[in-house]
Amino acid sequence: MARSTIPPTSGVPGWQSASPDLDAAIGGTPLLRLRQASALTGCTIYGKAEFMNPGGSVKDRAAAAIVDAAERDGSLRPGGTIVEGTAGNTGIGLTLVGNARGYRCVIVMPDTQSREKIEFLRTIGADLRLVPARPFKDPGNYVHVSRRLAQETGAVWANQFDNLANREGHRATTAAELWQQTGGMLDAFTCACGTGGTLAGVALGLRDVATTAGRPVPEIVLADPEGSALYGWVKTGTLSVEGSSITEGIGQSRVPGNLQGIHIDDAERVPDAEALEQVFALLTGEGISVGGSAGINVAAAIRVARRLGPGHTVATILCDGGARYGSKLFNPEFLRGKGLPVPPWID
Ligand code: PMP
Repeated sequence: MARSTIPPTSGVPGWQSASPDLDAAIGGTPLLRLRQASALTGCTIYGKAEFMNPGGSVKDRAAAAIVDAAERDGSLRPGGTIVEGTAGNTGIGLTLVGNARGYRCVIVMPDTQSREKIEFLRTIGADLRLVPARPFKDPGNYVHVSRRLAQETGAVWANQFDNLANREGHRATTAAELWQQTGGMLDAFTCACGTGGTLAGVALGLRDVATTAGRPVPEIVLADPEGSALYGWVKTGTLSVEGSSITEGIGQSRVPGNLQGIHIDDAERVPDAEALEQVFALLTGEGISVGGSAGINVAAAIRVARRLGPGHTVATILCDGGARYGSKLFNPEFLRGKGLPVPPWID
């Protein structure tokens, strides 16, 4: 379905109408039919092209929603400062939205994240503070550092993990767009979680629209990388971490506020090699360049489609673009060092 048919409830006019400013150009992304994944399963598998947002990722939506909410509740005033802890993409979204609306952004980020995201944040003017990667229970974890920095300086802490404006943004836009773009013919939705804002917001929004339309509520499936505790949480109700992943921005050791109280039907745990297979196939077979979390999402969508059987429709999220990960996903030495397959055209 064309972007021009996105309903006003989505809050975004989409790219077919003139955008008065950057904010209006966030969301309204194309829903791409993934040819290979669909052929493989006999289903229709769609990927929402979130890499086409102005900041290049799904996190532009959360950034805009969080800034909107802080302006509405009066905590963010003209010329104010926003502080956030992020794997990078939320920082990019916040900095661009901040630039557009006159706010300064201080971004705290683990130094393990891709060089490309770090360099991009510097070039767009973020006040970037890199910190060593630490577990959440350590006070040096980037989330805690960002919270303390906001408290000490009187700035607004975006708090994307527990700030429900994040999932509400996805409920109002991403879910509404998915429903509209599939004409309500959606059997399942799958995606990975960092904050859980995307999965939770889409789950809530699809439930709203399906119930109003008197249609079955699409199945909601978590896609989880190795090294994350969420798969076990969905499957057995317990949190425990096994293995690790090279993907960025996804996987959790705890249940963030945005995921709490959300009904999730099932979960798939996807190893990096299976995700990379999808990243490389999307690129070479369909010209779609995505990062690792999108690979996890598409691999999970294929598993769900196989379980449902031919004729079903499954949607997922193409969270960001491959250019953000040249130094990792497309670096033969890095991949070899992790025991992962190296695509022949870069070897
Ligand atoms: N993929 C990428 C590349 C991300 O940066 C993020 C956000 N950290 C996600 C997926 C997960 O999105 P969410 O925070 O809405 O769960």
